[in-house]
Amino acid sequence: VVTGLPTKLPGEATLGVMGGGQLGRMFVHAAQALGYRTVVLDPDPQSPAGLVAHEHIHADYLDAAGLARLAEQCDAITTEFENVPAQALNTLAERRFVAPSGAAVAICQDRADEKAHFTASGVACAPHAVIRSQADLDAVADALLPGILKTARMGYDGKGQQRVKTRAELAAAWEALKRVPCVLEQMLPLKLELSVIVARGADGQVVQFPVQQNLHRDGILAVTQVPAPDVSEAMQAEAGASAARIAASMDYVGVLCVEFFVLQDGRLVVNEMAPRPHNSGHYTMDACEVSQFEAQVRAMAGLPLCAPRLHSAAVMLNLLGDQWFDGSQERTPAWDRVLALPGTHLHLYGKTEARRGRKMGHLNVTAATPAEALRVAGEAAAILG
Ligand code: ADP
Ligand code: MG
Repeated sequence: VVTGLPTKLPGEATLGVMGGGQLGRMFVHAAQALGYRTVVLDPDPQSPAGLVAHEHIHADYLDAAGLARLAEQCDAITTEFENVPAQALNTLAERRFVAPSGAAVAICQDRADEKAHFTASGVACAPHAVIRSQADLDAVADALLPGILKTARMGYDGKGQQRVKTRAELAAAWEALKRVPCVLEQMLPLKLELSVIVARGADGQVVQFPVQQNLHRDGILAVTQVPAPDVSEAMQAEAGASAARIAASMDYVGVLCVEFFVLQDGRLVVNEMAPRPHNSGHYTMDACEVSQFEAQVRAMAGLPLCAPRLHSAAVMLNLLGDQWFDGSQERTPAWDRVLALPGTHLHLYGKTEARRGRKMGHLNVTAATPAEALRVAGEAAAILG
């Protein structure tokens, strides 16, 4: 495994990314702003990142020739896609510096492994049971009900989850999920949800971004607010310290997002993590001195990681495909009216086809005060409908 960071500086080196979604696109933009050449590997010829990279390798994530071409051209390689096969990252790591590692990404891909890692890092998560067999199902403690049954792998945006109140519902839900490995979590009384982005360098240095408070609709992130209006300084520090421990204990290099629940009784409980920049960290693009995408570039390229100061209050609104429809009628959202509002920063991902629930872009609203950011975000939301 190549553990050495690239020695070339911006302007001379090439950075690669596995996956061509919007996170890859914003990573490519950040890398290019620093003067890097960029290469994306993604099977989709129209992938948002592939469209803007210097080179787009259209190949499957496990395609040997595609991986060889990526390794050949790049000085360091990262991933923007959580479910990229860990094996592909391991193969690349035989020839080039890869961050985060396949081993770290593998932990994040499996909810059971992820929870075991949280516990091993000394960070409390929801009471849960891993269900891989009928015996596991029968042995589930009554105290875990009502609960949420989640597939161990491949879940996102609330997909692959079922809420269950009784043992009968649990059995039916596992059946409906085709008896794949699952995690049953106790349903917790949530006061709010927050997340924190940290970036860790190969030298072990960790920087923390300000904590963000998140609002989900139908299992999909809808709104992020920073500074987090209902989270104390002490809790922000606790979340950051927990995320740093979680990153350090898997020798993580790169940007990591850790999601937490704050319970009604005030306790902080870790939910899940993503081994990459995260939707809830998009506010950093316009409200911090360094964005989460630039932090990813810096971490993988061995550049200094400066603590990213928040210079504006921010509200991020996710722009889902639903906003491209008015009833059954297709339309283009009124960007001219949105951009006439002060402090609005529109980010569209270059996806040609709008579908309900599809992430098409996001709108960051920045302002001198949280109240002003919230007011303008409210006006933008009213325009977008
Ligand atoms: P995803 O990978 O789809 O984001 P999450 O595990 O984050 O899955 O769950 C999606 C949402 O469901 C969370 O943001 C939260 O609102 C709710 N949720 C998940 N687990 C629990 C739980 N144990 N108790 C209460 N609410 C939960
Ligand atoms: Mg989540």
